[in-house]
Amino acid sequence: MSTIGLVDRYDRVATDLRVSLTDRCNLRCSYCMPAEGLDWLPGDEVLTDGEVVRLIEIAVTRLGVREVRFTGGEPLVRRGIVDIVRRTAALSPRPDTSITTNALGLERTAVALAEAGLDRVNVSLDTVRRDDFHTITRRDRLHDVVAGLEAAAAAGLGPVKVNAVLLRGVNDDQGPELLRWCIDRGYQLRFIEQMPLDAQHGWSREKMITAEEIFESLATTFDLSPAEEPRGSAPAELFLVDGGPATVGVIASVTRPFCGDCDRVRLTADGQVRNCLFAREESDLRTALRDGATDEELADRWRVAMLGKRPGHGIDDPSFLQPSRPMSAIGG
Ligand code: SAM
Ligand code: SF4
Repeated sequence: MSTIGLVDRYDRVATDLRVSLTDRCNLRCSYCMPAEGLDWLPGDEVLTDGEVVRLIEIAVTRLGVREVRFTGGEPLVRRGIVDIVRRTAALSPRPDTSITTNALGLERTAVALAEAGLDRVNVSLDTVRRDDFHTITRRDRLHDVVAGLEAAAAAGLGPVKVNAVLLRGVNDDQGPELLRWCIDRGYQLRFIEQMPLDAQHGWSREKMITAEEIFESLATTFDLSPAEEPRGSAPAELFLVDGGPATVGVIASVTRPFCGDCDRVRLTADGQVRNCLFAREESDLRTALRDGATDEELADRWRVAMLGKRPGHGIDDPSFLQPSRPMSAIGG
């Protein structure tokens, strides 16, 4: 069996697989999708549980993938999620497994996910004020997220990380408040710059809160010093808060891109490999899989898919074009 991994033309090796389990979601975050939702993928185009697990197995056993993160859309709305996690965690070599979720329903599933072998969760939460949560997500569900976070920590799905996006004029003054709230509960907060991946194409560079602005806002309340550990391929720049041990991360995807160190590859819910979040081309594995391709043939297609990976996302280039798939259908 060939063990050549997912190497691109710039010698980057993808070992971190993001698997989107669905493009559907039960929130409507304004920076992600419109109030009315989107045209969801037709059911027959979405990979079955068995198909998803087969592709993950190929990635882990033949292509050197060591980390598998489930995302979406909202991965917890996928009915087979616990079984998919269980079958993924049972692979050899066992990959590190995690999930990026809005935490709705996590209160009910955290223990089952932990028992199935899930290692960690990242929960998206942009504000701890109920009104602003309602405004941003268009749903009055803050209490469910808080309960989901607590359940995840109690189930041992830690360190629990919280991802936040700050929006100008909405919650951009709440960075310190959110950080205090997370530190008090033992959650690791990371801020993410808003990216041009919303379905409505509403992103603009001027409206985006930059990492620099986030840092300055946090520094009004906290003493921030660079954390010792080198950033490596991790996108978050980590700072010690008031000398530590608490930390805060800032992910400057737009203003300080980390494409040169990227170790990620993505699989969409309909079985397309994306070598970059911002890629405009995809490689179809689903058709080959359903046409009876062998594991090694699928692995080869996946390797070839990496060769087109661009050196950088080029958001600052005037020729930049937003990919046609929005974030919710790619898997953030
Ligand atoms: N529904 C899950 C959740 O919200 O965690 C998983 C999918 S969501 C697309 C993954 C992450 O992408 C979330 O942390 C969300 O805040 C982030 N996200 C969505 N749209 C974004 C955008 N335009 N810019 C930056 N981050 C975005
Ligand atoms: Fe749903 Fe996540 Fe997008 Fe919010 S960011 S609408 S929770 S997919």
